[in-house]
Amino acid sequence: AMIGSIFFGVITLLVGMWISLQNNDGSDEFSRAVAAQEFYPYYQPVIDLTTGKVAGCEVLVRWIRDDGSIVPPGAFLPYAEATGLIREITRQLMAKTVDEVAALYERHPDFKLSINLTASHFDNTDIISEIRETYLGSGIDFRQLVFEVTEQHPLRDLELSHQIIKEIQAMGAAMALDDAGTGHGGLAYLQKLGFDIIKIDKMFIDRVCFDVTSETIVHSLYDIADRLGLKMIAEGVDSEDQIAYLRGLGVTYAQGFIFAKPLPAADFIAYVEKMADA
Ligand code: C2E
Ligand code: CA
Ligand code: CA
Ligand code: CA
Repeated sequence: AMIGSIFFGVITLLVGMWISLQNNDGSDEFSRAVAAQEFYPYYQPVIDLTTGKVAGCEVLVRWIRDDGSIVPPGAFLPYAEATGLIREITRQLMAKTVDEVAALYERHPDFKLSINLTASHFDNTDIISEIRETYLGSGIDFRQLVFEVTEQHPLRDLELSHQIIKEIQAMGAAMALDDAGTGHGGLAYLQKLGFDIIKIDKMFIDRVCFDVTSETIVHSLYDIADRLGLKMIAEGVDSEDQIAYLRGLGVTYAQGFIFAKPLPAADFIAYVEKMADA
């Protein structure tokens, strides 16, 4: 974990330097971009494999700069996390989801909207009131919300994290363990934190139909989810063979480029309407 943190620190420093170097007047370009609200939600559809219909989406952040260029999260998230700015970015993203898709979510009461949280959201209880204030009376019901926690960055206080998770669930939202099997927390997080959903990482989905080890891992995670009464979402699905494999196993939900990439709001709404007519 020590080596992991040092590695993470070094990467963060490098990305931070890269971003501040972009700026020619020496001011902090990234803080300016946050203040200017240049971070937007993209929406990747999640598909119900049993019906082929849209079941909701995952919100994925994009930094859209003045010149229209789109910066993917991998290029700025380590810096956003290290500076704590991710918390402000997440607040802005949640507010934008209300502006952009509340009307759609009112028309589709079964749709889920999944938001990514980071370890820093579990350092104190602020996120609970942020969620309540953003979504109360917004048109997006708490029951339509899912909050994803990746096991790739360790949570600092498992007891406090569990309290926060329970309060989010008490509002009616669901909690998902993201990137299951790839990181630090793994089975301990499942045991201690009380998730509702497990998301299997693309890393494993990529190799089903090619590699018995990956299939065994996916199968085992499926068994764990099934026995614990949790839902499962497969991510990074990009072939018909993978869809057939997941259906055969009994996995209900999937997202991936074979269905759709993360889309800006207007395109996501158009996608939903097209699928409804199909
Ligand atoms: P993630 O949460 O595991 O999200 C899934 C990533 O896989 C997304 O990358 C998505 O575009 C990509 N993906 C989905 N299906 C496919 C596929 O079939 N093929 C391929 N090649 N890729 C696929 P993205 O949007 O670049 O996000 C990367 C990571 O950044 C996310 O991984 C998540 O950990 C983080 N992230 C994104 N948005 C947010 C956010 O708003 N807040 C936080 N805290 N983290 C975020
Ligand atoms: Ca995620
Ligand atoms: Ca994931
Ligand atoms: Ca992933």
